[in-house]
Amino acid sequence: MRRVVIIGGGFSGLFAARRLRKSDPNIEITLIDKKQGSDFLPTLPDCLGRGIEPQYLTYDITDMAQRLRFQFINDEVTAVDFYKKEVTLKNRVLSYDFLLIASGSETNFYGNENIQKYAYKLDDANDVRTICRVLKGDAYSAYIIGGGGYTGVEVATNLRCFLGKDKKAGKVVIVERAPSILGPLPEWMKKYVSDNLKVLDVEVFVDSAIEKIDGEKVYVSGARVFDNAVVIWAAGVKTAAFIQNLTVDKNPQGRIKVDEFLRLNENCFAAGDAAFFSYNNAYLRMAMQFSIVEGDLAAKNIINSIKGRKLKKYRPIDMGYIIPMANNRSCGVIMGFNLKGLLPTIFHFIMCVYRSFNWRNKFGIIKGLIKGLIKGDE
Ligand SMILES: Cc1cc2nc3c(=O)[nH]c(=O)nc-3n(C[C@H](O)[C@H](O)[C@H](O)COP(=O)(O)OP(=O)(O)OC[C@H]3O[C@@H](n4cnc5c(N)ncnc54)[C@H](O)[C@@H]3O)c2cc1C
Repeated sequence: MRRVVIIGGGFSGLFAARRLRKSDPNIEITLIDKKQGSDFLPTLPDCLGRGIEPQYLTYDITDMAQRLRFQFINDEVTAVDFYKKEVTLKNRVLSYDFLLIASGSETNFYGNENIQKYAYKLDDANDVRTICRVLKGDAYSAYIIGGGGYTGVEVATNLRCFLGKDKKAGKVVIVERAPSILGPLPEWMKKYVSDNLKVLDVEVFVDSAIEKIDGEKVYVSGARVFDNAVVIWAAGVKTAAFIQNLTVDKNPQGRIKVDEFLRLNENCFAAGDAAFFSYNNAYLRMAMQFSIVEGDLAAKNIINSIKGRKLKKYRPIDMGYIIPMANNRSCGVIMGFNLKGLLPTIFHFIMCVYRSFNWRNKFGIIKGLIKGLIKGDE
């Protein structure tokens, strides 16, 4: 019997496992994740400002493993040997016939140990629990977000709403190294977001960097010092450490370059944030929609490889993207249409509820949204 090993139980990994089991009831599937549960990342920032409880973002991978009859190993992959076809975990070594790398991405501190020590990150449901605990504790004079990309903006607006509901004062500040927030996004969107940040009293420093964090003192370039401040770091991501040691083509974030069949070599595929796919002279951004389709297609191509059939080419369809902002003045581009205000906010939550892994989590998100609306009106 052929053994397929999947590294990562996020969107790509779980959709791949599902496709593999549907396509072949006898194949041996082993999925490895360093966490016991799979976290629904797009709703992480909403836990801060909307009252959604982090417990409703996590889905126990063991449940799916039992339902789809695959082996789940809760361990961390530390190395892959393509030549021996082996995956090294912290506690054992596994061999594979086919491998899918679907290990996603994680916060990149760019080697800055000082920031890593003091700043909070937002990689999973546990991180959001930690941030909620910190926010509910003593009040700070400044809440500083490192990075003005999608996540930084989303976090800033949610923080402002959290502070409003908790009747806490304090500056909310975004510090962005580039000359503008939201890097390559269209100008109309940057303007809309900047205006909304002003409405929410979020200060933005561009061409600036967090230089040092000394306990509760935060030093920002331009000789700005914030006392009694807390930092949430959302300034970029990188792939898992074991990928950094693989001698394959990668982009600067460490995403693995894959071919049109999502392959690195004959027996190894990559999907989701871990993969770097070039299409129409552009590279696909990290997003849930691509991770799901890529996981599914990589699994189909693993089955095709096993059965000696022709592999299927990846033809991505980009449905668009949304920058959800917690005061419901979101914006985005959906199927080529520019959207602003409540509609993209509604689309964001429809997508979150629809894509959540089980009914408990779907209802939990809806319950949190209703609770947040009621609390917001108090
Ligand atoms: C705060 C935030 C907000 C976001 N908002 C949106 C949004 O609104 N819309 C959208 O489309 N996308 C959004 N994204 C991006 C989206 O969540 C990702 O693109 C998607 O989760 C990637 O799926 P994946 O399966 O590739 O990886 P992931 O979902 O990250 O799953 C990877 C899994 O691999 C496991 N893993 C990692 N390394 C190892 C290892 N060495 N050994 C074992 N297991 C390992 C991890 O524990 C994890 O469970 C957001 C991301 C974040 C962080």
